[in-house]
Amino acid sequence: MESGACAEKDRVVVTVLDPRFKYEIASEPGGENIKYCFQCGTCTSGCPVSELDSKYNPRRIIRMAILGMRERVLASDFIWLCSTCYTCYERCPQDVRITEVMNALKNMAVRAGYIHPAFRAQADLIGGHGRLYEVDEFTNEKRAELGLPTLPASSPEVAEIYGMTGLASLLSGKGA
Ligand code: SF4
Ligand code: SF4
Repeated sequence: MESGACAEKDRVVVTVLDPRFKYEIASEPGGENIKYCFQCGTCTSGCPVSELDSKYNPRRIIRMAILGMRERVLASDFIWLCSTCYTCYERCPQDVRITEVMNALKNMAVRAGYIHPAFRAQADLIGGHGRLYEVDEFTNEKRAELGLPTLPASSPEVAEIYGMTGLASLLSGKGA
């Protein structure tokens, strides 16, 4: 570990940098090319999410990751904002494959216990009902009127997969 500095708004905040972080990302599927970035900014200039919200800046995220700002990156909201449009992936002159790097960072964040509330809510729904919405009695009555088969309210198979993969523990906060 070594000390470093980062700009936050209009002041400089001293933080702890982890020089191993970039190597960990590079060993993660999708993160292999992160060290090739030379900060040209092509990714940010073409990113539709960055256009809508200037807080989302893929060039800066890569920079922070390479500097070793592990906690700031993994605990952030911004790694979840990528819409996987692949614009940056196609335009990056260094073949950094930012879309895949973002996926690698999301996977690392989940393993570290940081799951965006939107994804947590989706995972809870799928774990509880086997799908993203609850099938109630009324829904099944309507399905029967249309000649469709009844759907179960829950899915033990999905619950079993959650248990086998460790997702159930992550969601309950025991697997971080
Ligand atoms: Fe780095 Fe590629 Fe983005 Fe340029 S386009 S800043 S090389 S990731
Ligand atoms: Fe932006 Fe993600 Fe699209 Fe790249 S893949 S341009 S980071 S939204």
